[in-house]
Amino acid sequence: MESAKVLIMRVAENRERVAALEAEAQSIVRVSKEKEASLEALYKKEIKVLELEFRQRQVELKAKRKADYLAKLEEVESVKAQDNPLKRTLAILRLQRTDLPRGQSLEIGGTDSVGGGSCYTEGYIINFEFYKAKLFIVASGQTTQAGKTLWTLCALGKSYFPGSLFALPPKTRVPFPTQGQYQVECALQVGTSVAELRTWLDGNKEVVKAQLLGEYPAIEAEYLATLANYKPEDFSPLITMVCKVCSYFVHSLDDVTPGKTCPRCQKALTAWPEPEAVWPNR
Ligand SMILES: [Zn+2]
Repeated sequence: MESAKVLIMRVAENRERVAALEAEAQSIVRVSKEKEASLEALYKKEIKVLELEFRQRQVELKAKRKADYLAKLEEVESVKAQDNPLKRTLAILRLQRTDLPRGQSLEIGGTDSVGGGSCYTEGYIINFEFYKAKLFIVASGQTTQAGKTLWTLCALGKSYFPGSLFALPPKTRVPFPTQGQYQVECALQVGTSVAELRTWLDGNKEVVKAQLLGEYPAIEAEYLATLANYKPEDFSPLITMVCKVCSYFVHSLDDVTPGKTCPRCQKALTAWPEPEAVWPNR
């Protein structure tokens, strides 16, 4: 059996060992926490650098995507635009010259055209086969401060060619109802008497004429040349529907798909080509 002295000494030794081991344990924690902190600082720095790099590349990629996409769309538009001259040719062929006697006339009436009352017709200023415009001097229904009647010199016109083929002069408000029967409606000049407006017209006739005429000679020449060179049935493979009554046709380059009835005469459209189909007579 060990002596009491030895046992007591061992207690003292053990106490010292425990203190030393506890100090070591704390040191492990302290040293590790220092390392952890510096590791975190290091990685945070690297992460920040990487994140910046990532954002930068992301921005670059998005910018490139946008530019490449727009360039492709432009290419699509330019290829589509190659069909534009043919679309125009088809639009011209669709007009059907012989509609004129059957359909609307381009003639413009007398003073009844502007609702009768106080008005004068000054005759045609434009008088072509496919485009006519007539001048009128009309009491505007308004007066000056001194009570004098105001008169308006107006032009009313009808064009065989729609605005999509030929740029018509922009409409300006005329002092009478027109029920939408004229493609050209222009108030040209206001004056306090008919004589004053006639004098103004004498001095400005060529300007007015040029303003109303626009590019008409070019579309007339294009129209006649197109009719001389092509028939609608030459484009049969592109034609999807026809109107057996007025020969209106729908083609695959049309931007809008029309309904089942002819937009010109409201009769039913027929699918084209039919077996052994013969183009409807005009
Ligand atoms: Zn029709």
